[in-house]
Amino acid sequence: METMVNNISVEKATTSKINEVDFDNLSFGSVYTDHMLVCDYVNGAWQSPKVVPYQPISLDPSAKIFHYGQSIFEGMKAYKDESGKTWLFRPLENHKRLNKSAQRLAIPELPESHFMDGLTTLLQVEQDWIPQNPGSSLYIRPFMLASGKGFHASPADEYKFIIACAPSGAYFSGKVKVLIEEKYSRAANGGVGYAKAGGNYAGQFYPTQLAIEKGYHQVIWTDDNTHEYIEEAGAMNIFVRINDTLITGPTSDRILDGITRKSILQIAENQGIATEVRKISVSEVVAAAKNGSLKEMFGAGTAAVVSPIAAFGYKDTDYELPELENSYASQLKKYITDVQYNRSEDKFGWRYPV
Ligand SMILES: *Cc1c(COP(=O)(O)O)cnc(C)c1O
Repeated sequence: METMVNNISVEKATTSKINEVDFDNLSFGSVYTDHMLVCDYVNGAWQSPKVVPYQPISLDPSAKIFHYGQSIFEGMKAYKDESGKTWLFRPLENHKRLNKSAQRLAIPELPESHFMDGLTTLLQVEQDWIPQNPGSSLYIRPFMLASGKGFHASPADEYKFIIACAPSGAYFSGKVKVLIEEKYSRAANGGVGYAKAGGNYAGQFYPTQLAIEKGYHQVIWTDDNTHEYIEEAGAMNIFVRINDTLITGPTSDRILDGITRKSILQIAENQGIATEVRKISVSEVVAAAKNGSLKEMFGAGTAAVVSPIAAFGYKDTDYELPELENSYASQLKKYITDVQYNRSEDKFGWRYPV
C-alpha cells in the first residue's frame, strides 16, 4: 500500500526484519533496514524519490556501471538523543559533495530537495531502526550508479540514486598500525581522488591487502608524484600532532574534503589548539617520531569520527606512538559526538533535526 509522507511516496514493507536484529551486537554495515529510497534519472530528469521495501535492484548486463564504473557514494549517520529524537550532522555538506562527485563522473546532479526530503522521509519511516545504545547510530549510504544501457564508453542516459541504511554499533578501531605507502597511489593530480567514486576504493584494496600481509591494518597514502608527503589514512583524512600543533594536509584533487576533517579544524581552532593546514612530509613525521615530538596521528571520517594510530611503518622500520591521557583525538571525538547526540550546545549550527 502506498501513502504520501512529506510529498514522498512510501510503500511499506509487509513484514519487518527488526525483531531478528541483535542491537547489542551490531557489526559495521552488515544488517540493512526494511526500506530504501530510490530515485531514477530517466528522460533527462530526476524523477520523484520513493521509499520502497529494501530489495535487490535489477539491471541490464550492459548497464554502464558494470563496464565503466560510473558510480559515486556518500557516508553519513543518524543519531538518536536520550529523548528519542533523531539528528543528522551537517547533511547539506553531504549533498554538496555528492554533486561535486557527480559532476566529476559526468553524472547529472541531484536537486537538494530530492536528497533532503527523500532522506528525512526514509529516516522517519525507519525511526525504530535508529539505535539508541551509547555510541550506536544508523549508518546511511546514499549512492548513485549508471543504470543506462550500452557498451559504448560514454556517460549513461539513465541513473539510479539510492539510500540504504544499516544500524551500527559503537565503532572501536582498536590499536591501528599503518604502513606509509612508497609505491602505490590512491589519487593523482587531475584525477578523481576528491570524489567519492567507487573505483577509488577498488584501487585501494590490493595495496591494502599487501600491507595487511605485512602485519599492518591500513595504508597511509602519499602523494603520487614523490611519495614524500602523507595525504590520507585509508579512506579517512589524516591528522598529525607534532608537539602541540595539529596538522592536516590541504584538500586538493587528491585529498578528499572530509566533513569530519573540516569540523575538527573548526573545533580545534575554537578550543585554542594550534592548527596548520599544510603539506606534511614523511621525513618530518619520521624525525618527529625519533625525537619524541610526534604525539599523535589519527584518521578522521564519519564512520569512526577519529581513529587513533598506534604505530606506523616506513622503509622496514616501525615507529610507535606514545599513549596519551587526554589526547587531542579523544577530546575532539568527544566534542563531535556530543554535538551529534544532542548532548551539548551546537555552537556551529551543525545539528539537523529529522
Ligand atoms: C569519505 C572519505 C573521507 C572522510 O569524509 P567524511 O566526510 O569526514 O566522512 C576521507 N577520505 C576519503 C578518501 C573518503 O572517502
